This record gives sequence, C-alpha cells and structure tokens, in this order.
Amino acid sequence: MTEMMRCLVKDKSEVGLWMQRRPIPKIGPEDVLIRIRKTGICGTDIHIWNWDDWSRKAVSLGIITGHEFSGEIVEIGANVKDLKLGQRCSGEGHLIGNKSRQARAGTFHLDPETMGVGVNTDGAFAEYIRLPAFNTVKLPESISDEIGAILDPLGNAVHTALSFDLVGEDVLITGAGPIGIMAAAVARFAGARNIVITDINQERLDLANNVVDAVTVNVMSQSLTDTMSKLNLKQGFDVGLEMSGSSAAFNQMVSALVTGGKIAMLGIPPSKTEVDWSQIVFKSIIIKGIYGREIFETWYKMIVMLERGLDVSKVITKEIPANKYKEGFNTMLAGGSGKIIMDWAH
Ligand SMILES: [Zn+2]
Repeated sequence: MTEMMRCLVKDKSEVGLWMQRRPIPKIGPEDVLIRIRKTGICGTDIHIWNWDDWSRKAVSLGIITGHEFSGEIVEIGANVKDLKLGQRCSGEGHLIGNKSRQARAGTFHLDPETMGVGVNTDGAFAEYIRLPAFNTVKLPESISDEIGAILDPLGNAVHTALSFDLVGEDVLITGAGPIGIMAAAVARFAGARNIVITDINQERLDLANNVVDAVTVNVMSQSLTDTMSKLNLKQGFDVGLEMSGSSAAFNQMVSALVTGGKIAMLGIPPSKTEVDWSQIVFKSIIIKGIYGREIFETWYKMIVMLERGLDVSKVITKEIPANKYKEGFNTMLAGGSGKIIMDWAH
C-alpha cells in the first residue's frame, strides 16, 4: 500500500487552500526525501491563497504549495554522496536548469529556466517533500527548526541588504514587513550607521522596534525629512532597500538618497509605476533588482551570520499546528503580523 501524507493543495479556482492526503513522493537518484518539521507562510502563499491575477497565471491547480521549510532527510537517492539520513536541513526553493548561459556560468540565481517549489512544482506545505540534493542546505545545530523554516525570506533580506557596501553607511528601508525588518537586522549586523525603516502600518513598525535597533517612521503621521535632520543626515541616505512595492515609498526613497546613492529593490511595484526618472539620472542613482537568493553564496553568508549572533527570532510572531493553517493565513491576511510558522509534526 502506498504511504500517504497530509499536504496543503491549491485544489480549486477560488480563494483558499485545502488539506488533502497524497502519496509520499518517490525520489529519483539525484534527490532526497525530507520529512518536514516546520514551514513559514510567505507573501507568495498569500497570493496563491487569494488566487489573484498573478497566481492564476503562475500556478497550476492541484499543486502542493509552500516553499519555506526545515526538516530532516529520511531517504537518499542512489547518486547522492554528501548527505546523510537524519541530517537536519532547509533548502533552496528555486530549482534551476543546467542549460542556460547563466546556469553554465555558475550564476544560478539568474537562470531564466528556474522553477519555483510550491509554485511550479509540488511544495513544502506537506509532511514530506522531494528535493534535488543540490538544493538541500544542511542546518548546523545552532540554527533551530523555526529559523530553518524562514531562511528563504531571510535569504531575500540578506541578498538585498548585502547588495551594496553598508559599513558606516546610512540606510533607508521602505517597508517593515518581515523581510524589511530582517534586512534592517542584517544592515545593523553588517555595520551600517543609521538605519531608518518606514511603513504606513504601525503594528509592523512596532514589530521592527522589537526586533532591531533602528529608527522607525510611520510616513502616514511622521515626516521622514524631520527624522533625517534629527539624525543629522545632511545629504541623505547612502543606500536604500526597497521592500514595499509601493510607488510612493520608492519615490520618497529616490528623494531621500544622496547623490550617487544606491537602491536594492526587492519590492514589486505595480507594473506601470510613475517614477521621477530625472531625479534618478541627475542624482546618478544605481538601482539593482533583487530576485531570490544568490545560490548558494547568500545561504553561506546567512548561516555564518546566524552562527555569529545575527538574531531575527523575534520576527516570528506565531506558531500553529499545520491542521490549523486557516488561522495562520487569516492572521497574515489581517496584516501587521510577523512570520507565521506551521508545525507539521503535530
Ligand atoms: Zn517565501
């Protein structure tokens, strides 16, 4: 008899996800089978839950969702040499090809053939996931299962924050969602001077204050310019990390940067956003788009920083058993929450 597992499936063309029973995946010679311990709910999962325009185009019905996870290896493919049964792990959720120019050059995160776990192939909101051994990342003992389950978004934060030199720099972060807050923690760890984080949601800013030593500004009620003069920022911020996808936030960032400032942009703005391009040109601003994590340099740096004291644990604000997933999604949908962890062992 085939062994079955619980998993969260996008089963119908409507709002929601559905807990189902499916056979435990069979692995190929280059794969491992991971028993999932904890998973994180991502903004991407919320898009899929809401079944918005993006997810209708990107996701095929019937897929197991989820891509942020930690677990342990319970089966190893015949050709896999360097992994052992019982190894605690997380994993890179972008499955890359080996044909494109970028993949062959070793810049795996730029591979246009990338497939997303939990988006294009079966994901991690399940008791088990099949993953190529290549994508598996070992967890040292000092990294908990909970933190292991949020390395995907922490990796986004690390990739964005470390895109430009932050040592001694003044950094503006727009968007105090979990990734913005974790990026502030990384900027602090990396040696930035002033870190200012903006949002329009006070709950998120309160969470930011709880997690990281940064100045928070609610741009609905406070002036960023006042904060800048209080901090004695004469010219502006050196580096901007755009995490909100809001065009208003992006334009405010452009105005608040120094001449020659740099922006790393993870937030996804609405497709036809109005931008004051003349300011970008006259201020010689460099803008870098960020997608995913550098495979596997971001993972390497992230794990070293965690082992050396980077602490983002307070960004996790709720943990629930997987069967209560609706409660987790509803909390996320209400806005203002930090990361929510689902426990698959209970
Ligand atoms: Zn994610």
